[in-house]
Amino acid sequence: MAGFTRRALLAGSTLALGATGLPQQAAAGAHPSGKQAPQLYRYKIGDYELTAIGDGVWDRAIDESFVRNAGLGDVRKAMTDAFMPSTDKLPIPFTTLLVNTGSKLVLIDTGTGGQIANTAGTFGANLAAAGVSPKAIDIVLISHFHPDHINGIKTKDDERVFPNAEIKVPAAEWAYWMDDGNLSGADEGLKTYFLNTRRIFRTIAKDVARFEPGQDVAPGITAIAAPGHTPGHTAFAVASGGQSMLVLSDTSNHPKLFLRRPEWQAVVDMDGGLAVETRKRLLDRAVADRMLVQGYHFPFPASGHVIKSGRGFDLVPAEWRPV
Ligand SMILES: [Zn+2]
Repeated sequence: MAGFTRRALLAGSTLALGATGLPQQAAAGAHPSGKQAPQLYRYKIGDYELTAIGDGVWDRAIDESFVRNAGLGDVRKAMTDAFMPSTDKLPIPFTTLLVNTGSKLVLIDTGTGGQIANTAGTFGANLAAAGVSPKAIDIVLISHFHPDHINGIKTKDDERVFPNAEIKVPAAEWAYWMDDGNLSGADEGLKTYFLNTRRIFRTIAKDVARFEPGQDVAPGITAIAAPGHTPGHTAFAVASGGQSMLVLSDTSNHPKLFLRRPEWQAVVDMDGGLAVETRKRLLDRAVADRMLVQGYHFPFPASGHVIKSGRGFDLVPAEWRPV
């Protein structure tokens, strides 16, 4: 290894460049764009075309409270093992999923609405880059009422973003978050979530439909009970033409932590024990059925297959393909 230095690597790459015969001055005049290309990824399930639409990333500061039943050292080790850029901040991506069933355009969760982190809020620009108007969305499905999933329903000025969409939410989420007794019993941190839920839904309540687990909520899309993260947290199965996939929503936060160590209870899981039980049940099903999964907080394109690995699971990310 002694001679295998950075300098040797660089020298090798210069030689390779020279061998292509490309004029090297051209590179000197090209300015870096300093921003990403549109965060979109398309794939098919049967006859359905799915588009993963990114809303950016939030770098969340991590301390000993982030995982209730693991030491900060173990959490940082998992982050180092995953080559994360820092062990002080966990990159938490947000990825919504647009399902074109042929007859309906269905959006699953809506992003942060640019109201959570200045490194997130790109959903609208990415939807436009996908060639889709918010007015064209027929159905918005909500997995649960945390702000990073519902805030995209409205702008900061309380305008509706999807004026023609039917908004469908888990009945158990509505019952929990819209209950004034639960609001008055909540601590200060949780209270902001209750108030945000009211800000988003109060003025549009008449247009919000509530669904139960097991119900078909859109053509080929079924709600699956996944409680623990929140009381009515919901996953979805998308099926078409003999193929199916599982939208895990927040059944697991970042897979390099919570797939690899499924027993870890994140502070964002309201009932940590139940969240772990749900996580293991759905991940076991994904492994057994070899199902493609999508996770809202998985690294873009937020989809792949789940395998058993070590003490838990791991994600084999989807490979880019032409549709
Ligand atoms: Zn979330």
